[in-house]
Amino acid sequence: MTKHCCQAMQDNLTLNCSIHLDGFDCPDVLVNYIEKFSEYGIIVHNGGTGHIAINFCPWCGTRLPPSRRDLWFDTLADLGFQNPTEEPIPEKFHTDAWYRRDN
Ligand SMILES: [Zn+2]
Ligand SMILES: [Zn+2]
Repeated sequence: MTKHCCQAMQDNLTLNCSIHLDGFDCPDVLVNYIEKFSEYGIIVHNGGTGHIAINFCPWCGTRLPPSRRDLWFDTLADLGFQNPTEEPIPEKFHTDAWYRRDN
């Protein structure tokens, strides 16, 4: 059971490497999924943790869910968090729990 669009996406999101502990360090990991933002991206292997957001799956072509990055910041701003990446925010904002209806 996968929550992603296809097996290729699932495989390429998953770090399965005996050398690297972090997907950003491993050249075999091509894509990144930020659960709290519902955002997929192509990893830029430049030593940092940047990615280029993508709207379609490179393997199966499925339209990916829209990024909720802006909404994440807006929602937290409404709750009084001006620097949510540095402040202790509610636990649900670290996962997709904050926007899932069935929660
Ligand atoms: Zn796919
Ligand atoms: Zn590796």
